[in-house]
Amino acid sequence: MRPFVVAANWKMHKSPAETGAFFEAFLPKLEASGIAKDPAFRKVLFFVPALDLYVAQKLVKGSHVCVGAQNVYWETKGAFTGENSPAVLAELATPYALVGHSERRALFGETDDQTAKKVKALHAVGITPMLCVGETLEEREGGRTNEVIVRQLQAGLAERDATKRIIVAYEPVWAIGTGKVATPDQAGEAHAVLRKALATLGSAALADATPILYGGSVKPENSAEIARQKDIDGFLVGGASLEVDSFLALCQTAKA
Ligand code: PEP
Repeated sequence: MRPFVVAANWKMHKSPAETGAFFEAFLPKLEASGIAKDPAFRKVLFFVPALDLYVAQKLVKGSHVCVGAQNVYWETKGAFTGENSPAVLAELATPYALVGHSERRALFGETDDQTAKKVKALHAVGITPMLCVGETLEEREGGRTNEVIVRQLQAGLAERDATKRIIVAYEPVWAIGTGKVATPDQAGEAHAVLRKALATLGSAALADATPILYGGSVKPENSAEIARQKDIDGFLVGGASLEVDSFLALCQTAKA
């Protein structure tokens, strides 16, 4: 059985002090909600800014929450000003890292080849990559959604270690931060395509074991409907993850 994963992408929000205030309020509420009693099947992750990672790791220690990185470089050390070393993320006991988020692709020129190198580098140090894929509005309107997301998936997995885990996040670019949500049918279809592609590119076991999250303007008001789709195993949440109560409500979404 796949875990249901609720992941926060804080993007470039929150200072170390704000991170502290968030977890001080959030963690007791999460424990009290009872979700934490079933940690094997409900994972709660926070992709925090790199500058908050160290503080966040200390704050969540001993809780049922994991902290991850939003970006990583594929070399371990060297003259790569401003980049995050996978080895250092591992030393900070960071279990997850995002790869290929659409903002990295669109604003920082991250290519499919680079996502492959990042997945390989993360696997090499025992960190689970969450590979983000998703089509632009133009690609959707041009009928190219499936082709684009399968290409991004295939490229991102090209250099992976097949013995290690991955998580996939389907995030239609037109739904990120826009308030527009994919309809359950649109999301359900994309997730089914990705599940099938995982089987073709890897194996039936990989397809069965890999959580595929939906991301794009998920809020407490729309999360239950999205979670009802068969192949949707959780959410990657931007805006609604910044407030304690809205993110807690998303963590409590029932998976039908
Ligand atoms: C994201 O950044 O991954 C995201 C899904 O953002 P939002 O929830 O704000 O659309």
